[in-house]
Amino acid sequence: MSAEYTLDVLNPATEEVVATVPGATAADVDAAVVRATNAQARWAALAPGDRARLLRRFALAVDDHLEELARSEVREAGHTIGNARWEAGNVRDLLDYAAGGVERLTGRQIPVPGGLDVTILEPLGVVAVIAPWNFPMPIAAWGTAPALAAGNAVILKPAETTPLTALRLAELALEAGLPEGLFQVLPGHGPVAGNALVEHPGVAKIVFTGSTSVGKQVLARGSALLKRVTLELGGKSPNIVFADADIEAAAAAAPMAFLDNSGQDCCARTRILVQRGVYDRFLDLLAPGIESVRVGDPADERTQMGPLISRAQLDRVRSYVDQDAPGLRGKAPEGPGFWFPPTVLTGTDPHARVAVEEVFGPVAVVLPFEDEAEAVALANATDYGLSGSIWTRDVGRALRVSQAVRAGNLSVNSHSSVRYWTPFGGYKQSGLGRELGPDALTAFTETKNVFISTEGPAQ
Ligand code: NAD
Repeated sequence: MSAEYTLDVLNPATEEVVATVPGATAADVDAAVVRATNAQARWAALAPGDRARLLRRFALAVDDHLEELARSEVREAGHTIGNARWEAGNVRDLLDYAAGGVERLTGRQIPVPGGLDVTILEPLGVVAVIAPWNFPMPIAAWGTAPALAAGNAVILKPAETTPLTALRLAELALEAGLPEGLFQVLPGHGPVAGNALVEHPGVAKIVFTGSTSVGKQVLARGSALLKRVTLELGGKSPNIVFADADIEAAAAAAPMAFLDNSGQDCCARTRILVQRGVYDRFLDLLAPGIESVRVGDPADERTQMGPLISRAQLDRVRSYVDQDAPGLRGKAPEGPGFWFPPTVLTGTDPHARVAVEEVFGPVAVVLPFEDEAEAVALANATDYGLSGSIWTRDVGRALRVSQAVRAGNLSVNSHSSVRYWTPFGGYKQSGLGRELGPDALTAFTETKNVFISTEGPAQ
């Protein structure tokens, strides 16, 4: 790359610079698209079984380097080592799952008069994946694995703060035997490298994960060329606890449902809605869970929560929390690093910024509700619609509320959101399109319809 500028990668737990990498310019994007276009033509011409085999080798290479990738994620993103190992394993699993689809990516045969009609699923060409810093490896792989499996080339632009694991994945792809240029990683500034990908006529699809404000710009700019665009954006997800639920279980699960990854999770359950009859009991049960969360060195196996990603993110989170507001507070280290303690606010106005905007930090509000109708109204009272949880022992209520909450990913008596076997994506301003699940590969294809006449030539 031309190295007109560089990106410093900081360890968020210590504020030390751990690496400096060259940043991509628009000219670098042009050159990458040429390489990707050539590689894609060769890749799509390979037998499906050979493409599947190479993706499985890539998955094995990730598995062989799982600990190294995990340690790198701890250093650049401050993720706890346990989470980071899961994230590297998730990349391996996504590649394996996508590899299984290569030989099963079938079109249809449709009954029509006068001939045979078939659909063919063709690759789009070059796909750009623009990733955020909060889950650098899994989110990169959500787009990359199915796109490659469907016969496309991928250019991945990681977030400015977290390019290291992405760069290592590209090396592992080459070592596994994927063709040169098929999977390229271009670290760089969003408005420079990211925007050049969005506006490049040689890029057929943009898979964007990040903030709602940048996602809207990506959609607007991509639409000038009628690009395919998938958007995975922000969230402000409810955790609804009804009085008939197993309150002990709901209170025990609530802390990590918003503190995992220091709350920098688009699915974080940051609005805890509790039915009034069990409100006080729930808070009594929640308090020890918040106060005892082990916050500290993310490389320590016992740590449950690490630092925030950057000084800017720390300042943003601080701006949402009035230090004198009533609630529960956990502990956080002092000194270098971007630390913020686990925080639960009570007595918050349901319309306050902290109750409706995405904080992207370890901060939740608890709001009481009277009945099912009010719970649903509160759950839906944000611009977002990504995830949510419903705690109840009443199956009918679980289904009614699942249908009434306008969000793409709900879980009952659990906080599960993202599983690579199932579709994932947002309602409202949380996104556009779906990723993962059984249809993941199809989202990286065009459907071509071919009709073959069985009529003889006209006499
Ligand atoms: P961000 O929008 O600032 O950046 C995301 C990516 O876009 C980065 O790679 C950035 O460099 C790039 N970018 C920035 N400006 C650009 C431009 N003009 N053109 C093209 N690319 C540009 O988001 P972030 O702060 O890195 O990530 C946090 C956000 O991501 C949160 O809002 C979170 O909810 C969201 N997120 C959503 C999901 C989901 O699946 N719905 C998952 C994880 C994170």
